[in-house]
Amino acid sequence: MNDEPVTIVGGGIVGICCALSLLEKGAAVRLVERDEPGQGASFGNAGVISPWSCVPNSLPGIWRNIPRWLLDPEGPVAIRPRYLLRATPWALKFLRAGRRNRIPAIADAMAALNRPSVDLYRHHLAGSGHEGLLRECYYVHAYREAAAADLGDFVWRLRRDHGTPLEVVDGDQLREIEPDLSPEFQAAIIIKDQARALSPGRLGAVLADKVRSLGGEILRASVERLAPREGGGWRLTSDHGEIEAQQVVVAAGAWSALLLEPLGFSLPLEPERGYHMVFRDPGVSLNHSIMAVDAMFVVSSMEMGLRSAGTAEFAGLEAPPDYRRAQIFKRLTKRLVPGLNTNDCEEWMGIRPSFPDSLPCLGEIPGQPGLFAAFGHAHCGLMMAPMTGRVVADLVTGATPNLDLAPYGVERFGR
Ligand SMILES: Cc1cc2nc3c(=O)[nH]c(=O)nc-3n(C[C@H](O)[C@H](O)[C@H](O)COP(=O)(O)OP(=O)(O)OC[C@H]3O[C@@H](n4cnc5c(N)ncnc54)[C@H](O)[C@@H]3O)c2cc1C
Repeated sequence: MNDEPVTIVGGGIVGICCALSLLEKGAAVRLVERDEPGQGASFGNAGVISPWSCVPNSLPGIWRNIPRWLLDPEGPVAIRPRYLLRATPWALKFLRAGRRNRIPAIADAMAALNRPSVDLYRHHLAGSGHEGLLRECYYVHAYREAAAADLGDFVWRLRRDHGTPLEVVDGDQLREIEPDLSPEFQAAIIIKDQARALSPGRLGAVLADKVRSLGGEILRASVERLAPREGGGWRLTSDHGEIEAQQVVVAAGAWSALLLEPLGFSLPLEPERGYHMVFRDPGVSLNHSIMAVDAMFVVSSMEMGLRSAGTAEFAGLEAPPDYRRAQIFKRLTKRLVPGLNTNDCEEWMGIRPSFPDSLPCLGEIPGQPGLFAAFGHAHCGLMMAPMTGRVVADLVTGATPNLDLAPYGVERFGR
């Protein structure tokens, strides 16, 4: 029975990194993905890989901004009217997670997953011939008003307390670093020593190829049901028949909670939809990941063009995309990078798997021997994926991870 491959449900960047770390430990691995690997939320993100990321989405006083964000058609948050009631319980939990006394523990738990991100991606890419997919860079937070670039603000103090290398620069220095940015931006706070993916989709595809080359199986199937076997292990029902496994890792992104529902878990995993716009012939180029702080979106030059990504839309798993959310990036990005050519562009929507406290579920699921959670990475799944993979590989192979898993427990949401 122990010869059965460890079965990972979901071939996004999280499932792929779990597979790689398990294979490195000598485990047999089967990755079950209903589409091409790495093409869900992991395909279209902003490519930011920051070892320093520790700021949760819910922060003290955030509720004051929400009405303004919702009323502004170009604002960073949108809720479809029909979804308002459904979103309310999650929104209340989200606001509670932003209480001042909860932030330090959440920030520590985010930092622990993000800190080794760049090193682990380098490790996974080494020898693949695609090492250049990762580019060292700064994370430039650009401000219109110089006074707003204040390291005394709560979020910057939080980052500083977590060892983040920071520097404030004025408008002239900003244009030296990023000549194509508009002079309307008078200052920036720079996070140093991080990296960006030049194509998150291709990164997933390259690492999926590595899974295959290390002997892992990638099975194209949609898992419909997970059920415990008599005598131990799991039976997965899929559109390609039954799959048996002693150990199963659920890494199905925003769809993970649906798989666990029949086992009695009701998890507040919100499908938080995000959009991007790729400008394929941008005529300008950026050296770093740029966050436009007032509009809350990220811009980065990638292999396929210049990509603007962000927004949080609450509409459920099934609603069709509203590409007006991506069209907004045309005007917003032009204000940031005035020389941008917006004529040839491509829009995209992807679904972040978001818990109210910005932390994923990670670890063996209580009362379900051999079933492991690796989902809910919200806005940080690209950067958290490699460390998630390491932790899952340790747990599945019976080693003790070098990390306190309590903050990521499924049980934090009750049952
Ligand atoms: C606009 C935007 C910008 C972002 N920017 C960043 C960023 O800069 N940095 C960062 O770190 N993160 C960023 N993120 C977040 C990041 O993209 C996600 O957290 C991450 O991709 C989640 O990875 P995942 O593998 O859990 O999910 P996904 O990539 O969604 O993968 C889940 C996979 O599971 C498969 N699946 C689901 N159910 C089943 C089933 N029943 N059977 C078989 N297969 C199944 C799906 O087909 C999918 O391929 C961003 C997200 C968005 C939307």
